[in-house]
Amino acid sequence: MQKVIAIDGPSASGKGTIAARVAHALGWDYLDSGALYRLTALHAQNQQVAWQDEQAVADLAAHLPVAFSGSQILLAGNDVSQSIRSEQIGMGASAIAALPLVRQALLQRQRDFLGERGLVADGRDMGSVVFPQAALKIFLTATPQIRAERRAKQLNIATQSPEFERILADIMARDENDRRRSVAPLRQLPDARLLDTTHLTIEQAVQQVLDWFQS
Ligand code: C5P
Repeated sequence: MQKVIAIDGPSASGKGTIAARVAHALGWDYLDSGALYRLTALHAQNQQVAWQDEQAVADLAAHLPVAFSGSQILLAGNDVSQSIRSEQIGMGASAIAALPLVRQALLQRQRDFLGERGLVADGRDMGSVVFPQAALKIFLTATPQIRAERRAKQLNIATQSPEFERILADIMARDENDRRRSVAPLRQLPDARLLDTTHLTIEQAVQQVLDWFQS
């Protein structure tokens, strides 16, 4: 059994916020594995490497010049904490995440986040591939509409707007991409607990994870 809580689920489901708060409550480290895929997509774009070029993207992923410093993420010395969060880079991350060599190149880097303290890791394959011996596995989700509303709120976008419709369409397209790929597809594992946050506050979701872990 590994001292890991693995939280997997679709985009904009609140995994990041909930995982980070659970980690804080337990005094454990936190891994945002999606950030590594986003960083790889951005790095490829900056280096003018096509997202479809599997070998070239995998080579970049294996030597990502990244540094994590508090909440700041530096890529080749530049603060990219905000720019990796765009929907365009999210789509790029989803595209390169379907390439087996890229996933392989990022595997050990993710495992290296587990130290003495314990780790809360969020992503799509934390429980299936990266930490299959995790002490607790959770599949965290909410309806696409609610996920799009939460994302829109963060971006200050009205729900009755064309931009909102675009966010909803992007979320659904990315989920479809992540579910249909042949490597590490997004799915609920038989040994994962389902946490549907559609009608839960962040605090309630965090508490539920802590209760499951402590029971
Ligand atoms: O979680 P986030 O939305 O930041 O992830 C961006 C993309 O990276 C996802 O749409 C998914 O395709 C990919 N990803 C993945 N495996 C992970 C984490 C993210 O395939 N463990």
